[in-house]
Amino acid sequence: MKNKKIIIANWKMNPNSLDKAKKLFSETKKVATKLKNTQTIICPPYIYLGSLVDKNISIGAQNTFSKNVGAYTGMISPDMLEDLGVEYVIIGHSERRLWETNEIVNKKIIEAMRSGLKVILCIGEKERDKEANYFHFLKEEILESLKGVSKNALKNIYIAYEPIWAISSNKGSAIDTGNLHEMVIFIKRVLSDKYGVNTKLPKILYGGSVNPKNTQELFTEGNTDGFLVGGASLDIKKFGEILKIADEI
Ligand code: PEP
Repeated sequence: MKNKKIIIANWKMNPNSLDKAKKLFSETKKVATKLKNTQTIICPPYIYLGSLVDKNISIGAQNTFSKNVGAYTGMISPDMLEDLGVEYVIIGHSERRLWETNEIVNKKIIEAMRSGLKVILCIGEKERDKEANYFHFLKEEILESLKGVSKNALKNIYIAYEPIWAISSNKGSAIDTGNLHEMVIFIKRVLSDKYGVNTKLPKILYGGSVNPKNTQELFTEGNTDGFLVGGASLDIKKFGEILKIADEI
């Protein structure tokens, strides 16, 4: 599976019933399991995970907690997810970062990795200022989020670059492919400065208004290893198309 493209479906807080979740899951699985060059990871809400875990397709959670057991009302721990058969976890999504600092994100990453989960770390700037301070912001997000993560552990990390201004629910539109290419190089540079030039770096994914119309271009010109898809992953027609286009590139 090493060199496969990675497409992640982040369902967020959708759909609003288990029946609908099962339907969307089986429709997605039907397309995803036919692909040769693409790995699909479906991230449903916590409450559906137990019903959807499946040997034939990867499942991720959208969040977790920084402790594994104890008196933490309402929390779900990495150990619980791992025990259920969940393989991946999204950490630091911008919709979670409304409450979470880099320090919290870092603690979650450390605990999730200790439990054997693979981590999809989301990073992304709120806006593109003329002075280009967003480079500094991103560097800080990466370095603080990955504090204490060893070079050896990088194989279990995926980085999803998701500029907040590009996310569809923020009325955004996708990044320009040239800018995406630049950002992927920048993220790799930050990582190789930290871990050494000969280090095998994590896959770099992009998220923000990916749809069937821009999939091809974002892939071929954007220099990314895959996508994290929000809104379009809820529509099997759109998501199925994204998967098929990615698989054929
Ligand atoms: C997201 O919020 O992670 C995301 C990528 O959403 P969308 O694809 O809807 O822009």
